[in-house]
Amino acid sequence: MTTRPLLEVSNLRVTFGSTAAVRGISLKVEKGETHCLVGESGCGKSVTSLAIMGLLAKGAKREADLIAFGNEDIRNYSERELSRLRGDRMAMIFQEPMTSLNPAYTVGSQMTEVLRRHRGTPQAQAVDRAAELLTRVGITAPGLRLGQFPHQLSGGLRQRVMIAMALMCDPELLIADEPTTALDVTVQAQILRLLASLQKELGLGILLITHDLGVVARIADRVSVMYAGDVVESAPTAALFGAPQHPYTRGLLSCVPVPGKVKRDEPLGSIPGVVPRIQPGFVGCGFRDRCPYAQEACKLPLPRQTAGAGHEVLCTLPVGWTDRVAA
Ligand code: SF4
Repeated sequence: MTTRPLLEVSNLRVTFGSTAAVRGISLKVEKGETHCLVGESGCGKSVTSLAIMGLLAKGAKREADLIAFGNEDIRNYSERELSRLRGDRMAMIFQEPMTSLNPAYTVGSQMTEVLRRHRGTPQAQAVDRAAELLTRVGITAPGLRLGQFPHQLSGGLRQRVMIAMALMCDPELLIADEPTTALDVTVQAQILRLLASLQKELGLGILLITHDLGVVARIADRVSVMYAGDVVESAPTAALFGAPQHPYTRGLLSCVPVPGKVKRDEPLGSIPGVVPRIQPGFVGCGFRDRCPYAQEACKLPLPRQTAGAGHEVLCTLPVGWTDRVAA
């Protein structure tokens, strides 16, 4: 019997009025895997995660062939069924912890509330669990922290609290949207190490949304590169960094200092232009106005090509064209 991925999304589309924010993306997260969704601001990464969690703003239209959490197709779940899943078997952490933490309640009351609401756990047991998780995410004196309000904590501590809160019900899937962007580099590295070790320990599947390829290189098993609402390249991390095929991926990689890839003092590249606003019904490549290799065929429906095991690219250029460019 084949086991289903923890999360499987097929042909997800999201429109906001005359803007197509997500245009038919498919992705999977396996148990114990970190799948990074990467791209510039405005490429549709966060909308994708909100669409999966059923948290899109009013006015957004979501369609998909499948959004499956394990064996459950959750596309038509009611708000009540979704909120039963969220915070329980699927949890989400955001860039800004104050989005999830209520400034008016102590850390302890917010953490225990999650467990009492989803599991009906008695208060004393919930407090024990909260203290245990605070310790696990590296917070000392958990008893003291449980009695504090979010504004009494530093940004790094709030982020740790949010991760601990997300883990209260032992989720199987964690969706993390830019969880380290607002933090300084040292705290960022600590939080990433923490996520990686929790994942190993708990077998969590993680969908990590980031614009930071340095983060991706450190933590991802698989990477999907998004551009203008579409996944333009998806590959195991080593393949994506070792043999990127899509011109946008190559552009992104040239913009960041990736350890071992960019020599000291070597200038970084940049991609001229901005992510366009795509209208519903748009055909062809959304990157064509910025792509140095654009050709007439790029205005037509694009082939999704296989560039290796688990490596797909959405582009008219033949697989391996990069070798010829490099030669
Ligand atoms: Fe460039 Fe065409 Fe490939 Fe788009 S499809 S990335 S425009 S070559």
